[in-house]
Amino acid sequence: MLNWPPTEFVSMIRYLKHPSLIALAVFFSLNLLSNSAAHSITPEKPYDLLITNARVIDGSGNPWFRADIGIKNGRIASIGRLRAEDAAKTIDAANQIVAPGFIDVHTHVESIYSLPAAENFVRMGVTTLVTGNCGASATDIAQFLGRIKEKPLAVNLATLIAHGSVRRQAMGSDDRAPTPDESRKMEQLVEQGMKDGAVGLSTGLIYVPGTYARTDEITSLARVVARYGGIYATHMRNEGEKVADAIRESIQIGEQAGLPVEISHFKISSKKLWGQTPMTIGLVRDARSRGLMVTVDQYAYTASSTSLDSRLPSWLRAGGLEEAKKRLADDATRERVRKEMKEGLKRSGFKDYSYAMVASYDPYKSFNGKSIAAITKLVTGKNDVQHQIDQIVSMYEAGGAGMVYHGMSEDDVQRIMREPFTMIASDSGVRQVDESVPHPRGYGNNVRVLGHYVRELQLLSLEDAVRKMTSLPAQTFGFRDRGLIREGFAADLVVFDEKTVGDRATYEQPHQFPSGISYVIVNGEPVFAGEAMTAARPGMALRGPGQSAAQTASLGAR
Ligand SMILES: [Zn+2]
Repeated sequence: MLNWPPTEFVSMIRYLKHPSLIALAVFFSLNLLSNSAAHSITPEKPYDLLITNARVIDGSGNPWFRADIGIKNGRIASIGRLRAEDAAKTIDAANQIVAPGFIDVHTHVESIYSLPAAENFVRMGVTTLVTGNCGASATDIAQFLGRIKEKPLAVNLATLIAHGSVRRQAMGSDDRAPTPDESRKMEQLVEQGMKDGAVGLSTGLIYVPGTYARTDEITSLARVVARYGGIYATHMRNEGEKVADAIRESIQIGEQAGLPVEISHFKISSKKLWGQTPMTIGLVRDARSRGLMVTVDQYAYTASSTSLDSRLPSWLRAGGLEEAKKRLADDATRERVRKEMKEGLKRSGFKDYSYAMVASYDPYKSFNGKSIAAITKLVTGKNDVQHQIDQIVSMYEAGGAGMVYHGMSEDDVQRIMREPFTMIASDSGVRQVDESVPHPRGYGNNVRVLGHYVRELQLLSLEDAVRKMTSLPAQTFGFRDRGLIREGFAADLVVFDEKTVGDRATYEQPHQFPSGISYVIVNGEPVFAGEAMTAARPGMALRGPGQSAAQTASLGAR
């Protein structure tokens, strides 16, 4: 990787045994260098980019240290006391923190090629995204990752292969078990996805069609992923009243299939179970003590965000919206839906749907930012649960909505954040500024941890927070040369002021970029510098271990 010292020089030295010959060789080599300079061929500098005056937090969790960082050909070439004249360009970090670029392992950026700058992520320090979460991904992984060649991105991109998407392709959105043929088809799709570079399998077991899968269906797909060294990342079957059962199911899949488990956006969303995180965390700890690799990720907010559909019974949604509408035409069915939703709400401990805010509703954009309770009042003049449920059903029939649900307790969020195996991930997509009223996590997640939870609440150290955004995600998802500041590692870096770093995005005004981020560097190139995005698009597709396994196999077959 390094062009310094020049390779001819090194090989010359290697063949010279006698000290005086070495001295002679050095003399001539130096002469050669100064001559080439005299002939105005600029000798290549040892570093393309040098970051000076940095306090380095290397991602390991260790305390910061002072060093300069020299970057060459997209990699960290040297860490230490380095000379500015050895670099083509220099960034003065001015005593700020330099950390590895943040790795966001839980995103939904299937549409990233239409917003290749991924500005909302970059501006909070994120340099690598893992998408394909919650059971929804591209099914042709080679094609999805390959597009980066024609449409370069500002950030690195990895993806999971998603159970829901694979199931839909094999058997539509039917509420039933797959036939043996359909099972084989799903296994083939997952295997191809792993060979094409997926980092693992994701499920979304509250969504159509993932919700119709039994545990054994997922275990058999997870076995395929295990053969290729992938991970199982799950949006569990339940995050509310049955969260403990759902954690046990996730762990069972990992133990039976023999692969690591990542529980996505770990939380408790039932008010009745607030404060029970010692129990849910305990289940993860127990599995780890039995030897299973289980980790979790979390966003730093007490509100979640998902579709409106997730409030409706899964049996109603089988086969898709048109099928559901046919069922709802029957009065008895409609009444059953009302009854089940009312009971579900009661079990969750919320008195009505004022905790449910609309993020994006296409038929009436004026609903965006308002709660279901407020909208119901606006539309019907009534505010009881019955009318709110009817309002939800009618919005579902009109095509559904994106929602923000204020459903968690701050204590639980903090208890999860303190666990050593918790990483920080946004669950966000790429954002178009000022489009709808989305969850603020897409603009503020990482910096909210650094500003609010580290600096203001002192819940964790800055070094530990950085670890949860860098080396832990890299270790868990197999990015072997990222997530740490080490010589030879990819030069994904973020420079920030730990005194001012913070989130500015709120639930009311989410489209606000963070404060305190100075530079974001991806594969050695600044993509954000000073106050603005640059035009650089140095992102790379990061492919999982299955790809090299597939290559080795095909080489062996030759
Ligand atoms: Zn999810």
